[in-house]
Amino acid sequence: MDSPQFTAEPSSGVDPLMFDVIIVGCGPTGAMLAAELRLHDVRVLVLEKETEPVSFVRIVGLHIRSIELMAMRGLLDRFLEHGRKRPAAGFFAAIDKPVPKGLDSAHAYLLGIPQPVVEHLLEEHAIELGAQVRRGCAVAGFEQDDDGVTVELAGGKRLRARYLVGCDGARSTVRKLLGVGFPGEPSRTETLMGEMAVDVPQEEIAAKVTEIQETNKVFSLRPAGVGVYRVVVPVAGVSDRAEPPTIEDFKQQLHATAGTDFGVHSPRWLSRFGDATRLAERYRVGRVLLAGDAAHIHPPTGGQGLNLGVQDAFNLGWKLAAQIRGWAPETLLDTYQAERHPVAEDVLDNTRAQMELLSTEPGPRAVRRLLTELMDFDEVNRYLIEKITAIDIRYDFGEAREPNNQHSGAGPDLLGRRLPDIDVKRGHLYGLLHRGRGLVLDRTERLTVGGWSDRVDYLADPTAALDVPAILLRPDGHVAWIGDDQQDLDDHLARWFGSSLNR
Ligand SMILES: Cc1cc2nc3c(=O)[nH]c(=O)nc-3n(C[C@H](O)[C@H](O)[C@H](O)COP(=O)(O)OP(=O)(O)OC[C@H]3O[C@@H](n4cnc5c(N)ncnc54)[C@H](O)[C@@H]3O)c2cc1C
Repeated sequence: MDSPQFTAEPSSGVDPLMFDVIIVGCGPTGAMLAAELRLHDVRVLVLEKETEPVSFVRIVGLHIRSIELMAMRGLLDRFLEHGRKRPAAGFFAAIDKPVPKGLDSAHAYLLGIPQPVVEHLLEEHAIELGAQVRRGCAVAGFEQDDDGVTVELAGGKRLRARYLVGCDGARSTVRKLLGVGFPGEPSRTETLMGEMAVDVPQEEIAAKVTEIQETNKVFSLRPAGVGVYRVVVPVAGVSDRAEPPTIEDFKQQLHATAGTDFGVHSPRWLSRFGDATRLAERYRVGRVLLAGDAAHIHPPTGGQGLNLGVQDAFNLGWKLAAQIRGWAPETLLDTYQAERHPVAEDVLDNTRAQMELLSTEPGPRAVRRLLTELMDFDEVNRYLIEKITAIDIRYDFGEAREPNNQHSGAGPDLLGRRLPDIDVKRGHLYGLLHRGRGLVLDRTERLTVGGWSDRVDYLADPTAALDVPAILLRPDGHVAWIGDDQQDLDDHLARWFGSSLNR
């Protein structure tokens, strides 16, 4: 790891408890953020209220963009060891269609992996990079001033950091204390989900499930081990309770929906979720930021929440690190909200649409039938899968200048988008991004990163599988510049990576 070149805010003479960043919550978002900050030598403390990791399985898995992030940081092999590759299809409102043609990714699959494993691997990675994680520490309050944030734990202990990030989930204490509005819709439905033993032959279960799913798309019993099933059953009414349901609650709702409780017993874990849909009005107030479920909640349709949070962290990490290291251009940190708020808005909207498509009412069922037909058009199918897997995201970086030696018309369309894991002369592009630095990939072999070489790597490669002369990639893998002109590149390096060391 490089030693820091800049320290805009020197750490000498401050409270010995001072950290650069305190992260509240060691869920997937908090752990990912901690690791991204550590890539830049930022002193990170993660405070987690739970003494032990929780064991709810929850997620379907990692979608394409999240898998790409793991590849970009050299973590993919660990995840592959614990997960199972499944086709990248059938996520949108659970409409069953084949994988669309032409998904532009070297990792075009769903990685089925339980949430506790994702959390463990990300926490382990953050700790390996030097993050401190303190469990059994609930944050109860904080105050910010011009120089930093004083954080108060439930026991009264105080800690201080330059920045605080609330990754503390849907009921975020940080968001509430910050007074940031969380507008949206309350839950209208409630669903029970858990894993438990089932004492009925498999064929009997399959027949019953098929019959009920004719009209009720939410209900399911899927094998999750020998004699164990993942049970998802809707509930009449909304309790809005935070505590897990009991096995008796499951029996009652299974009876109400299926006319039998399938003899369920011996639960591994039980949980409930609603379809509340809310988005924080702001992601930043001064030195305090929000990420993950603390900033947005929506129903789990399409399996996007964890993926969205991890991607928030990936967007925020290098920007906050740049701010602390002292090289961030003035508006860099604010691009976090500018880029990620619209992405969350879009996810909220697609989950609203999916919930309508899962309704048992005749109108939405007719719309579902129509959309099912439309998804036979490969472009429609691909559009929806690219949305759910977050490979369609394009940040607004303004107009692309047409390079002097444009190789194809496809170039400017790349601006603001993520670059897939293309072949380069040293292997794969993502293998060059493990350290979380910028990268200039130059087919012309004429350019240089000059005074930005402490923050940005350079690869001259006339054989790179690119249709444009050269690109500048941000540490999150999004294309920040396309061209062949050194002055234009320098301007863009300054825009994203601050002043050159040569100035
Ligand atoms: C039934 C269900 C199914 C889902 N399926 C999927 C899926 O298939 N795919 C997907 O991508 N997402 C899915 N999700 C969503 C996903 O689980 C969440 O989006 C994800 O957990 C959010 O991660 P996070 O780190 O932002 O928040 P959380 O996972 O909620 O983590 C927040 C952490 O902060 C801690 N904390 C809270 N308050 C404090 C405090 N005051 N002080 C210290 N620590 C605190 C908590 O203990 C927790 O560890 C599903 C959710 C549910 C409920």
